Amino acid sequence: MCKFLLLFLFILVVPVKARSSDYSIPICKNLVRPQSFLVDSGVTCESIERFEKIFQTVQRSLGLPSSFPRVFFKSTGYESWSTFGNLILVNQRQMSWDQAKTNDQRDMVWIHEIGHLVFQEMLKKDFKELDCFTKYMEQDAEEKWRNKNPLFDTSKILNSFWSSKCKNARDLQTSYSELFADFIVSTVLNDINAPLKYMQNLNTPQSEQIKILLYDFGSQHPIDTCLNEDPHFYFAPSRSVIGSRYFPVKRAKNNVIELYNVLKDDLLLYNSKGQSLSDCKVANLRLIPKIK
Ligand SMILES: [Zn+2]
Repeated sequence: MCKFLLLFLFILVVPVKARSSDYSIPICKNLVRPQSFLVDSGVTCESIERFEKIFQTVQRSLGLPSSFPRVFFKSTGYESWSTFGNLILVNQRQMSWDQAKTNDQRDMVWIHEIGHLVFQEMLKKDFKELDCFTKYMEQDAEEKWRNKNPLFDTSKILNSFWSSKCKNARDLQTSYSELFADFIVSTVLNDINAPLKYMQNLNTPQSEQIKILLYDFGSQHPIDTCLNEDPHFYFAPSRSVIGSRYFPVKRAKNNVIELYNVLKDDLLLYNSKGQSLSDCKVANLRLIPKIK
């Protein structure tokens, strides 16, 4: 009877464990922070160590972010993200338009995600209205990490967020964060065209190629090229002004702090008036004179 019960429990428990153990702590001799990573079985030590080096490069050049995130590392995939819970997901072999990016492009995607962390870390100190959102994101990160699963269902936590009053604060920062994360890539690499380079791909459809040009800090984007519906392109016209103001890079850390303060003040002004970002032309026309 007891044996049967044990066997029954074993059958019940094993499939759940098998799913969660898709990700494990890496064993790599040169890794400084193995406990900060959960990796799938296809990820090599070379890639994880590379990520650590890239993170150190960003930290050395900016002094930010100050804390190392928890990192889900996948062997391949399209998506990458970072959250206010100081949790990040990256791919060893970043895919785009059914084609793997080069190692250089992939490194830039990683820097972009670290760039979001830089913005989030700074914003958490200055934008107290975000505390409620951060609280949910920290719970969400905790659950995903504890279950060793970046797709772990935290809908209960997130439902509480959607019914909370802090949604506007969260939505407001998204377009600023995309702009800032790309600025970090260009600044750290001293390459005004870096975001354009990491988005370009031989298989990119024609219709998307025109859009991708809007990532560039080195091109002129007229005011009506901005796109309300996509936070990546919301501040496209402001990118031209940032390009001429901050490149080639002379004082990386100062530039980052300076631009951060401009974006933050703009964002806080919207928030203090209880407004959300709406028309991107108006928002760019308001932001551009502050950058110049
Ligand atoms: Zn992004």
